[in-house]
Amino acid sequence: MARARITIVGAGKVGATAAHIAAAGRLGDIVLVDVVKGLAEGKALDISQAGPIQLYGSNIVGTCDWERTVDSDIVIVTSGVPRKPGMSRDELLATNVRIVRDVSKEIVRYSPDSIVIVVSNPLDAMVYTAAKVTGFAKNRVVGMAGVLDAARFSYFLAKELNVSTEDIKCVLMGGHGDDMVTLPRYTCVGGIPVTQLLDQGKIAQLIERTRNGGIEVVNLLGCSAYYAPAAGAVKMAEAVLKDNKTVLSCCAYCDREYGVGGYFVGVPVVLGKGGAEKIIELDLTDSERGQFEKSLSGVKQLAAKVDEFLRE
Ligand code: NAD
Repeated sequence: MARARITIVGAGKVGATAAHIAAAGRLGDIVLVDVVKGLAEGKALDISQAGPIQLYGSNIVGTCDWERTVDSDIVIVTSGVPRKPGMSRDELLATNVRIVRDVSKEIVRYSPDSIVIVVSNPLDAMVYTAAKVTGFAKNRVVGMAGVLDAARFSYFLAKELNVSTEDIKCVLMGGHGDDMVTLPRYTCVGGIPVTQLLDQGKIAQLIERTRNGGIEVVNLLGCSAYYAPAAGAVKMAEAVLKDNKTVLSCCAYCDREYGVGGYFVGVPVVLGKGGAEKIIELDLTDSERGQFEKSLSGVKQLAAKVDEFLRE
């Protein structure tokens, strides 16, 4: 069987880290693309030279030339300007819409059959941009945010309960960051709902820390997180490439589901070779539904702004 071809757009912190994780996971051959001359080439060479130590032999190419990406099975989009301390994700919007628009046109040109995983922020708006510009079937464009937010929540829970992170399964909905909707009722520790193991106050504290998880790292590092975001994107790519049918919280297109009416928003998704193959609809309480609606209205506002930028 031919090896999978993975294009990663943006050879910055998230993109290069994703390339390394994908190579170490032996997911396929990788093309790393960036507009900065030498950057993708240098990162690809460095990652390739870790191969003999970590025992992977993927072909890893770094380039500014989109022609090298031809016929990729999957394209992970991390190109864009990252958040600086004190900067909101929405402030990134205008710049990153243009970048993701240009990248999306190249994806259509060179890999018209690919599945696209968007990481660039503001996430929900960038997924909308990529879907709109590529015109791909809606299941073929998904965004990575819920996997990261869920991982952060799981990590904090594991530390609090002194259990293995592997035992925690959690599902999140809504937009990325401030507007995410955590669902403690559906969060389990070795199959036991976390609501039976921790009191409400403690859970609320950990949710708050998760909500601010991105900014906590930004304030420490002076730049946004990249190890966990890259791992999240590669987890999604793996589910698609191996047709794993993994259930993950992703930003995916919902029409009738949850009554969303045609927007990309965070929901539990079955990810396989078709991309977002199925949206799982959970029963929500009035309060959870209210949080989701609030989040969705933020997503709709962002989409309207994207439409304005794309008309310019
Ligand atoms: P970075 O600055 O390290 O890397 C971004 C790279 O994109 C740069 O190397 C830049 O040259 C490149 N780039 C810009 N325009 C391009 C184009 N048209 N074609 C190809 N490459 C281009 O930033 P980072 O820390 O890697 O973050 C990347 C993006 O991911 C940011 O938008 C950030 O906000 C976002 N992010 C999202 C999540 C999430 O949970 N969804 C988490 C972390 C970061």
